[in-house]
This record gives sequence, C-alpha cells and structure tokens, in this order.
Amino acid sequence: MVQPAWQDPVLLAPEAAPVPEYGTGSLADLLPTLVAGQGVPGFEAMIPELTPADRNCVFLIDGLGWEQIKAHPDEAPFLHSLLPTSRGGTGRPITSGFPSTTATSLASVGTGLPPGEHGLPGYTARNPETGALMNQLRWKPWTALKPWQPYPTVFQLADAAGVRTAQVSAPGFEQTPLTKVALSGGSFLGRLTGEDRMDLAAERLAAGDRSLVYTYYSEVDGQGHRFGVDSDAWRGQLMYVDGLARRLAEQLPPRSALYVTADHGMIDIPFDEESRIDFDEDWELGAGVALLGGEGRARHVYAVPGAQADVLTVWREVLGEQFWVASRDEAIAAGWFGPRIDERVYGRIGDVVAAAHDDVVITASANEPHESAMVGMHGSLTPVEQLVPLLEVRS
Ligand SMILES: [Zn+2]
Repeated sequence: MVQPAWQDPVLLAPEAAPVPEYGTGSLADLLPTLVAGQGVPGFEAMIPELTPADRNCVFLIDGLGWEQIKAHPDEAPFLHSLLPTSRGGTGRPITSGFPSTTATSLASVGTGLPPGEHGLPGYTARNPETGALMNQLRWKPWTALKPWQPYPTVFQLADAAGVRTAQVSAPGFEQTPLTKVALSGGSFLGRLTGEDRMDLAAERLAAGDRSLVYTYYSEVDGQGHRFGVDSDAWRGQLMYVDGLARRLAEQLPPRSALYVTADHGMIDIPFDEESRIDFDEDWELGAGVALLGGEGRARHVYAVPGAQADVLTVWREVLGEQFWVASRDEAIAAGWFGPRIDERVYGRIGDVVAAAHDDVVITASANEPHESAMVGMHGSLTPVEQLVPLLEVRS
C-alpha cells in the first residue's frame, strides 16, 4: 500500500534505542569484575562469565570496535583467533557506554562506573557552574578535578588492597587531568613505542602475586578519524596492534588473564550535505540553542532558558528520522547514561540529546573545524560504535 503523503514520518523513540549493558556487560563492569576476582573488598563480579585470575592485564586499543575486528580476519589474525567462532576462542562483545567516546569510556573503565556517575558525559559537556563548554578529553578550560570526578578509581582501590597496579601508556599522558581522574592508582609508566609498552606490561604483571596492569594504544582511532575505517592507513594500524596483542600474550607470566578491549568502534561518514548536517549553517537547528556540545554523532544541546521545549520539538522534527532525539529526562529515563545520575552530573547533560541512528553527523564547521573534517566518527548507540571486544588470553 502506498503511504499517504500527509502521514507523519516515523520518528525514532528514545526508549527504543539500544541501551548499553550497564551492570552486566559494559566497559564500566570490567575492572570491578577483575579485582573482585582478586579479592579486593567492595567489588563484585559484574560480568559473571569471566573466571578470576591472580594477574589481570587490560590492553585497550582506542577505536577498535568488535565489528571491525570481525570484518578484518586477514589484518588481525591473532585477535581473530580469540573470537568465539574460532577454535577455543572465548571472546565476546561488551558495550562501551554512552556516548561511545574516549573520555567517557576511559572514565568508565578506570572508575568502574557508568557516565551518569563518573560525570564525563561526552567529548564536550557544559559545566553547570560556569555555563561554558568543557572539553573532557583535553580538560579545557581547566577545571578542578575532584569536584568534577570525585570517585576513587578501581586502580587506586586495588593498589590500596595490595594488588600491584600499573598503567603503561604514552609518557605524555602521565600528567593529564583525564589520566588523573580516570586512570591513576599504583604506578604510571610511560613508554613511547607499542612494543615497549607490551614488554613492560608483561614485566609489571609478573611483579606481584596479584597484579593489575592497564596498557593502551591510540593510533587505530587516529588513522580512522583521518583516513577512515578500512583505509590503508587504518588497516596498517590494525595489523600493527594485532602484532602487539600477540607479543603481550606470548609474554604472560603464569596465572594471568589478558583482556583486549577498546573504548568504542567507528563509522565512516560520507562527505555530502545529507550526511553531514552543519549546525553552524542551519538557522532552524540553531534557534534557541545557547551551546552545542558532545560530538557529531552524540550531541548535547543546551537551550537558552525557556526554549528547551521548542528546541526539542524542532530537533525532533528536523532530525527525528535519523537520530534518536531525547529530552534530558527522556535520555536519563531510557538509561542512556546508566541507572543513576548523580546530581552534579545532571546539568552537564544536554537539554536535548541527539544520538545518530543513520550514517549521519551534526558537524559545526565554524566552531569545530577539525572535528567536522574527520572521515571516521563515533559517539552514538549503534552496534558498530557501541560494541567493543572483550578478548581473553590466559596463561
Ligand atoms: Zn576517536
């Protein structure tokens, strides 16, 4: 039957969006599960399938989603061998959390809490105290750390309980606010190359009867943003990290578990006007908006006081077939940010939250020229961004 022309478009309902599996299978559940298995008080196993180990290592590969590993057996033979379809592989996907972006996900990993509690709800978010946007990744403008993220990290609690704890990452990250609020506890060890990080991670893992080591590599994400998922540069990085994971796995000391995971996946966005909606050139979307936060595929929209309802109506009308468009309270009620929202976090979430369903982004050519020019993007609730690997190697 032909649809009558006057029929309302099918709007995506916020409550129908696929919500991250907070509490049972999200990034925030990983470290609590591992340290619960090591006997650190105050934690329980949130991901019950994981068997406890005395020594736990997490290798986080920035931007390497579950779907991307599955799609590239030739470039990632080692990681592929850990997938459940291969002989003996026990790997599974978990969800990153919303938004699926580095600052939010690293905070979820390190604190063991969903975004609604750790309070880093996006790439940029409004600071309710100042009314200005704050970049959560670069911590600009500088903001006092403790009031912004008051919880201890799992690393700090594990270290205090006698687990030998270390983070092995790029030297430049040692003093960053994001490391301090999300990933500190025990020793931070900076190494420039991926190979050195793997070797040192294995060494630190062996340094205690019970140990917890986190290590990180960034450039799969970097090349994906610049050249796209599946570009030659991206494939080269995938081959490289596959070798790194193998190198680390081969050096595991006894009684160890290695978990390879990621902070989010990625999706390429075509360069055309339909796929890249430029907020800075769109008077309709801009009406009543005081600040545009988040990132292209996960926008926090902060309205001028009194204009919240109008902004929601317009955003839903204009974008509601391609984005899940929710009011702050609808997004919270649907569980996008986790089961609980701390009071200090509430005002950091947009009056309107728009999460991309289709292969589209809301760019901001004037205010975010660098981000708007990226090929690969992430942030939303779709499986290609949201599902991250949890691949396991045991010694
Ligand atoms: Zn990224």
